[in-house]
Amino acid sequence: MNDCIFCNIVNNDIPCEKLIENDSIIAFRDINPQAPTHILIIPKKHITTINDLKPDDSTLIGEMFLIAKQLAKIENINNSGFRMVFNCNKDGGQTVFHIHLHLLGGRKLSWPPG
Ligand code: 5GP
Ligand code: ZN
Repeated sequence: MNDCIFCNIVNNDIPCEKLIENDSIIAFRDINPQAPTHILIIPKKHITTINDLKPDDSTLIGEMFLIAKQLAKIENINNSGFRMVFNCNKDGGQTVFHIHLHLLGGRKLSWPPG
């Protein structure tokens, strides 16, 4: 998808601070961090929203969480705590329509979210 920011990041057409990459996933720092650690974990294949997930994507989604868990340890927020979030559509606050798992930590996060 040419007009998708995250597909362009996957293709290296838009630069990012990449932390982890494998055949199906990349993880990079959010350009507008909302916490000292704010990392996005995305599938390389374009999936528009969580509503578009198919049963075949279950391994991919599981791998995204495992990479986020690994990054929480690397960022040393595994013991202090962190949050993992998928926003979906307007009320969920989704602004980029290529699914991404947010990993947030390094400060006390409020609950419920605003
Ligand atoms: P959403 O609001 O869709 O859940 O999250 C989209 C996230 O992508 C936001 O936190 C935003 O700061 C981040 N973002 C948008 N464009 C770029 C970009 O070009 N590079 C990076 N690294 N992050 C981006
Ligand atoms: Zn995309």
